[in-house]
Amino acid sequence: MTMTMTEQMLADEGCPAMTAKDYRSDVKPVWCPGCGDHGVLLALTKTLAELQLAPEKVSVVSGIGCSSRIPAYLNTYGFHGVHGRSLALATGLKVSRPDQTVLVAGGDGDGFSIGGNHFLHACRRNVDLTYIVMDNQLYGMTKGQASPTSAPDWEKGKLTPGGTGINPFHPLVVALASGANFIARVSGTNANGAVPILKEAIEHPGFSLVHVLSPCITYNREQLDWKKMVRPAPVEATNDPGRAARRLMTDDNLNLGVLYKGDRAPYQPDLRSRGVSVADLEAPFQV
Ligand code: SF4
Repeated sequence: MTMTMTEQMLADEGCPAMTAKDYRSDVKPVWCPGCGDHGVLLALTKTLAELQLAPEKVSVVSGIGCSSRIPAYLNTYGFHGVHGRSLALATGLKVSRPDQTVLVAGGDGDGFSIGGNHFLHACRRNVDLTYIVMDNQLYGMTKGQASPTSAPDWEKGKLTPGGTGINPFHPLVVALASGANFIARVSGTNANGAVPILKEAIEHPGFSLVHVLSPCITYNREQLDWKKMVRPAPVEATNDPGRAARRLMTDDNLNLGVLYKGDRAPYQPDLRSRGVSVADLEAPFQV
């Protein structure tokens, strides 16, 4: 088996390879037993181990919500940020520290409602980030209100008896139209199945969206049925935005795999060649 460059360096230095456990912190998740976010945490640690990324070379930035607790459970750098602002934070981090692998994590409410504007512009800018959205079509941490991806007739939302009556937001279509360079979907109930896709998303240059079907068993138990309903996407990933648009517009939210893989160059301004340092950028904000 061929070793990655990092594996080779670790071997040369006599270091044992990193395992999934090495990426877990000693903080115990407070998620409900059976929540899909447990599967995402497991998949992420396995992916980082496959990539043999040094924990200090990885930053995980999140917003607010159940899934946004994930940085606390990882042994990498983490930033549990402000509601809906994870992509703005992560963009600043990646632009000023291109040596870091920057992952962004959160839920559908955080990312598509409060952070909706940041989502559009992160896709458009195409900074090299991997955005993992654990979508359970509701706000779990505030006890089950409808979110932008809730079905219009979902009647259990605390503030929307009878359903919202509003068509759900389609994150993958919006991501493609806004310029995202990689679009995939995985299941939070199949960690091993998610690993190769997360790995590909992290390795792909530019802005990658990984949409995770992550059931909330407390406020929408029917989502456990996703496990039986999902299927591998019937066709290979395309790099043609026109073909991808046709696929995504007719997507029923249950196709797993890489759905679009673009070849747009990432946006990475070279601040050093412009004579700009992080200290210069911070100076106007000193109090
Ligand atoms: Fe997961 Fe839902 Fe529990 Fe939040 S409320 S931890 S989303 S199962």
